[in-house]
Amino acid sequence: ARRAQIAAFDGEGRLADGTAVPLRANVGNGADARAAAEQLAQGVGLFRTEFLFFDRDAEPGHEEQVAAYREVFEAFSRGGAEESAAGQVNGGEGSSAPKVVLRTLDAGADKPLPFLTDTEEPNPALGVRGFRTNRTAPGVLARQLAAAAEAAAAVPDVEVWVMAPMISTADEAAAFRQLAEEAGLATPGVMVEVPAAALAADRITAEVDFVSIGTNDLTQYTMASDRMLGSLAELNDTWQPAVLELIGATCQRSAGPVGVCGEAAGDPVLAPVLIGLGVTSLSMSPASLADVAAVLRSLTKEQTQELAAVAVAARSAAEARAAVVERLEVLA
Ligand code: PEP
Ligand code: MG
Repeated sequence: ARRAQIAAFDGEGRLADGTAVPLRANVGNGADARAAAEQLAQGVGLFRTEFLFFDRDAEPGHEEQVAAYREVFEAFSRGGAEESAAGQVNGGEGSSAPKVVLRTLDAGADKPLPFLTDTEEPNPALGVRGFRTNRTAPGVLARQLAAAAEAAAAVPDVEVWVMAPMISTADEAAAFRQLAEEAGLATPGVMVEVPAAALAADRITAEVDFVSIGTNDLTQYTMASDRMLGSLAELNDTWQPAVLELIGATCQRSAGPVGVCGEAAGDPVLAPVLIGLGVTSLSMSPASLADVAAVLRSLTKEQTQELAAVAVAARSAAEARAAVVERLEVLA
């Protein structure tokens, strides 16, 4: 019954006490971004750029990359997409510009590209993935950042942030920041997808301006359970206490904003727990925006912290989820 009352997201994620929680969309291209803007997503928290690179023999050229990135940025430009002109101001966080977080190419032996990756690796998930490809194929990332910077300059009313996937150390974060700065991109950040990055979040956020937790990979690497294996789904669960503790550690140790852009952000039971752990924004499939917004609206910051404490105290994933469901029913 409660579900039936949830019509649509109104474009402003916040808690019952007024605390703003920007709710953004995960997109892979311009069409996704326009659909997300129509559903009033407050920008894009994860633009997966690898889709532009797949199924081709050569790296996409500069102009093609600029056009593809620009299409996504323009979907959130007040003067750009038609749906914005219709009167809806998309992605507003108060008076600040809508934001699009472009994730640089995330390929590896698990998502192979002929011009970038070695498919002979014995352990693809532990190999040259994400930002690590800059070690073996330098140039691809610098060219991507140059294209992103040109596209961002063409859409000045959208704030473009860039982030690197699969970062493990502060040195890698610093190397990415330097590449982003050389391209003229002002706000570099990194994904927290491996336990090493979660535990080193203080050192990492001394180098970059924000982090975004990729809970899909953080869960896989914390639990050492392949995210593609259905037979390990019970282990591969973000509700696992060790994963929740690492999310909490990331928030406590980070100097700047901490987003979540993995599937967990779109789960209306887990989303308030993430906020209670200290996460400051969520990015999800647009279909999840309304449900997540509704549950957050019903809770104060203090109540989300209470839910997080309940979840972290549980001895298993199943018990953590059950305890939070029960507490949410009491609070509703
Ligand atoms: C993640 O790992 O949670 C994430 C958002 O990145 P991807 O799913 O693209 O690996
Ligand atoms: Mg990932």
